[in-house]
Amino acid sequence: MTAPEQSVVHGTPAPPDAPTTAAPHALPALDRLLRLPAVAALEAEHGRSLLTHEARALLAELRQQALAGRLPAAEIAPDALACALARRLHDRLAPRLNTVINLTGTVIHTNLGRALLPEAALAHVQATMAGPNNLEYDLASGGRGDRDSIVEGLLCQLTGAEAATVVNNNAAAVLLILAALARGRQVIVSRGELVEIGGAFRMPDVMTSAGARLVEVGTTNRTHPHDYERAITARTALLMKVHTSNYAVQGFTRAVDEATLAPIAHAHGLPLVTDLGSGALIDMTAYGLPAEPTPQQMLRAGCDLVSFSGDKLLGGPQAGLIVGRRALVERVRKHPMKRALRMSKLPLAALEATLRLYLRPERLARELPTLRLLTRPLADIEATARAVQPALAAALAPRFTVETVALQGQIGSGSLPVERLPSAGLAIAPVARTGRGRALDELATTLRRLPVPVIGRIADDELILDCRCLEDSTLLTRQLRQLSPQTTTVPPATK
Ligand SMILES: *Cc1c(COP(=O)(O)O)cnc(C)c1O
Repeated sequence: MTAPEQSVVHGTPAPPDAPTTAAPHALPALDRLLRLPAVAALEAEHGRSLLTHEARALLAELRQQALAGRLPAAEIAPDALACALARRLHDRLAPRLNTVINLTGTVIHTNLGRALLPEAALAHVQATMAGPNNLEYDLASGGRGDRDSIVEGLLCQLTGAEAATVVNNNAAAVLLILAALARGRQVIVSRGELVEIGGAFRMPDVMTSAGARLVEVGTTNRTHPHDYERAITARTALLMKVHTSNYAVQGFTRAVDEATLAPIAHAHGLPLVTDLGSGALIDMTAYGLPAEPTPQQMLRAGCDLVSFSGDKLLGGPQAGLIVGRRALVERVRKHPMKRALRMSKLPLAALEATLRLYLRPERLARELPTLRLLTRPLADIEATARAVQPALAAALAPRFTVETVALQGQIGSGSLPVERLPSAGLAIAPVARTGRGRALDELATTLRRLPVPVIGRIADDELILDCRCLEDSTLLTRQLRQLSPQTTTVPPATK
């Protein structure tokens, strides 16, 4: 995908010696402004409605400035007004959601949109969303279908589950499972697994929202099989395991794994449910990455339902996937809340295409961007850092120095929180001894204001740009000449 070039910014800087300010009555009336030839051209492009709206807003703003005696006369010249209006229209029409360059070192970054969609997913969305499709239509019978059926077969084949259903995200999946299986009853969870995922997703609160009662067992660091056994009563609905995805309990610890817990649950006629969080569908260690439990392992260990996210390690769109026993999946699917939490057709198309990539795992490291970035050879990342360094150093001299450095990145999004990915990138340091913090903040701001914003991280008086996710370095280098003169003090480097 190519980055948009910065569009031409219209504007007439006020001459430095313009002493005169405009009075409010000197401003044109709305219809006179709209009749200016340059403005009529804008109407041809944008139509009357938006133009009138923005023209009115511009005049109101200028009137305020004039009333305050702060409106330079030059700004009410016809050309200046037309330019100001063109700029407003451009800003109003510019998207608020934009691609950025993720140099944070965190591959699956929740604030930066998590997993990058594979080409196949984008193509499938493009191919199916502009026209009617068989979202809930059974082409064999000509009758009503279920949107789950689009991905259920794939999910069953990939995980070994009997049945599968999908909802908006994994938080919704957990909420729905609890509402469907445990409303008004008790759910037993280890105190070591009462996770907060960030935002408002805290396991105890989700339980309450679903109408289930949380029964905590064990302690923060140690939970034993008999802790679960003793807590089981006639009011118990299920036993639950939560993958501690964004923290690690280390030291004197003991957790009860699924293979141990499943027979305990089943001996009492109860299901074992696991919220796996990230949920890789493949063995990450085969790619040289840290081990992450898979839904297929959880099902083999005896879990009855497993839920996981679509946009974490799976590398697809936002989604909550629920796999497991048919009877339980049916109860979840038939719950009225399923209708409110269901997946929309756009991510469903992207999910189907992403899951299909897993049918040919040999091609996965190439075709799934998340996996491609996670497995990117260190030598490649280092080469990118070295390639960018001279241009960046030239653009930031003399205020900053830029060095290539070895870094430790992370997978992100609550996957494997303590594991680090050896990486490489650039460390930018201010030359001046004083005001370093402010200089770095300003530089970080400048980089975020580029047409394709560049997001790094500040650590130890340096701005760090991790190059793991910079597969095409021209995305960065061709923007360097736009670094503002306030930051660069020397003429910006040319291409
Ligand atoms: C990320 C996560 C969730 C929430 O998943 P979303 O898809 O972001 O809604 C729930 N539980 C665990 C353990 C997680 O790691």
